[in-house]
Amino acid sequence: MTARYLEAKQSGLLAKRWEESNQFLSSCSLCPRQCGVNRLSGERGYCRAGHLAEVASYGPHFGEESVLVGCGGSGTIFFCGCNLLCSFCQNYAISHSEDQDCRIVSSPDLAAIMMELQEMGCHNINLVTPSHVVPQILAALPFAVDAGLFVPLVYNCGGYERIETLRLLDGIIDIYMPDAKFWAPESGLRYAAAVDYPERMREGVVEMQRQVGDLHIGQDGLADHGLLVRHLLMPDGLFEAQAIFQFLAEEISPNCYVNIMDQYRPCGELAGGGDTHAAISPAMHAAALQAAKKVGLSRLDRRDTAALIRRLLSL
Ligand code: SF4
Repeated sequence: MTARYLEAKQSGLLAKRWEESNQFLSSCSLCPRQCGVNRLSGERGYCRAGHLAEVASYGPHFGEESVLVGCGGSGTIFFCGCNLLCSFCQNYAISHSEDQDCRIVSSPDLAAIMMELQEMGCHNINLVTPSHVVPQILAALPFAVDAGLFVPLVYNCGGYERIETLRLLDGIIDIYMPDAKFWAPESGLRYAAAVDYPERMREGVVEMQRQVGDLHIGQDGLADHGLLVRHLLMPDGLFEAQAIFQFLAEEISPNCYVNIMDQYRPCGELAGGGDTHAAISPAMHAAALQAAKKVGLSRLDRRDTAALIRRLLSL
């Protein structure tokens, strides 16, 4: 399947959406925080992003879902800053720190990174934490298309999105990969200072499904378009996980592809103590998988490390 942004470039949609998105930056309202800062003049809001995108690192990633990794890896671009800033973030140094090692990138620079990843053999461009840099991504894409980019574009976000911003990406993003982190407003408040997280997450996932539908996996075993939802199990979060699975099965699709992740570790501000200190037990992960199946979700991601090693060794 042809990447959507190629047609969008051809039709002029990409240029139109970039112009629209850029208007969000003068009084920033790209995400639900709606800080109102003028990022065009260098002001920074909650996410700490300025006018241009900043990249912490990029490269082929083999730890993502197997439908993104194949044998060439998923081409991850880790953007600095984040509009959610979870207290337990596993990428705390990238997302939270103000004195991190970030490279400011122009549109041609960002396009060149995308091309480098494609030329390295990555099967997709995986935009990690992209919500606060949507205009910058839209600005880079025409340069990348002109240089020959063709692999699917993955929008790998925390699930705290504004519908108005997501609509700018309609017809451009191939694969949406949002987190569905919390069901209870109290959890959104406690972990991310976002009491409206559950509401924004639900309406965002509905919009993403409307745009791209169920995840489609080609004969090569790789996803080329659609929705892939991640849920990171929290130590005290089985009840919330069940509610999220029910929402996905009933209001998104019983064919929704879901990755139930058990790798929670208390990082960031929560490293070193508190009631969220525990890791996820195998029993809890098994109970969550069971709960997802019980509500009718059958496309649950299984990380097959042995198959990945076999694929890499056969290259
Ligand atoms: S993208 Fe950043 S500056 Fe803009 S509204 Fe969200 S948190 Fe605030």
